[in-house]
Amino acid sequence: MSELEKQKKETIENLVAIGRLRSPEIKKAMMKVKRELFVLPSYKDEAWIDVALPIVGKATISAPHMYAIMFEEAKLKKGEKVLEIGSGSGYGAALMKELVGKEGKVITLEIDPEVYEFAKKNLKKADCTNVKIILSDGSVGYEKEAPYDCIFVTATAPEIPKPLIKQLKPEGRMLVPVGGIAGSQELIYIKKNKDGGLEERNICGVVFVPLRGKFGYKQI
Ligand code: SAH
Repeated sequence: MSELEKQKKETIENLVAIGRLRSPEIKKAMMKVKRELFVLPSYKDEAWIDVALPIVGKATISAPHMYAIMFEEAKLKKGEKVLEIGSGSGYGAALMKELVGKEGKVITLEIDPEVYEFAKKNLKKADCTNVKIILSDGSVGYEKEAPYDCIFVTATAPEIPKPLIKQLKPEGRMLVPVGGIAGSQELIYIKKNKDGGLEERNICGVVFVPLRGKFGYKQI
C-alpha cells in the first residue's frame, strides 16, 4: 500500500472512530474519490492529511472531516438534485455525484475564473464528467435548474442568501456557513418543511473563505 493509501485509510478510519463519519455510503464515496487529484501537484503527498489546503486564487479545498460533517447532515439520497456554491477544487462536487448516483444531478457554481478552470480540469481528471460546472455568482443560486433537494454553500455568507432558500424544494436541506470574514463562523443547517416553514440548527464553528457576489461580501 502506498503512503498516500495508508494516510487515506488512517484519516477515514479516524473519522469513523470519532463518530464524524457514520454512514457507509459517505465512507464509500470518500474511499472512492481520489482527493489527490483535486489538490495542487505540490500538495499531493499531503492530500489525505485531515487539513484544508490552498488551491488556486484565494480558494481552499476543505479538510476531509468538513465533508464528512456536511454530508452526514445533508443525508443525500440517490436521484437527488444538488447545488453547490463554490466549486473550489471540484472535490466536494465529485463526492456529491457519488452520493446522488447516476440518476441524480450535481450543479456546482464558481465565481472565480481561475478556480473554475482548476475545478473543471480536476473533475475531468477524476472522470467525473457528469457534474455540471458553471462560472457564475452562486450567491443568487441557479434559478434555471431550481428547485433543489440540497444546497451546499462552501463559502461564508454574511447572512443566509434569500434566493437560495427560495430555490429549495419542500423537504429540501441547505448547509451554509454564516459569520464574519475574520471572526467566528457557524455552519448552519436549514430544512424547508412541506408547508414552506424553515427548521434551522447550528452545527459547529467553521472556517471558510468569504462568499462574494450579490448576497456575499461585496467589498471582496
Ligand atoms: N467546495 C470546494 C471548496 C470551496 S472554497 C471544494 O470542495 O474544494 C470556496 C470557493 O467559493 C472558492 O473557490 C471561491 O472562489 C468560491 N466563491 C466565493 N464566492 C462565490 C460566489 N458568490 N459564487 C460562486 N463561488 C464563490
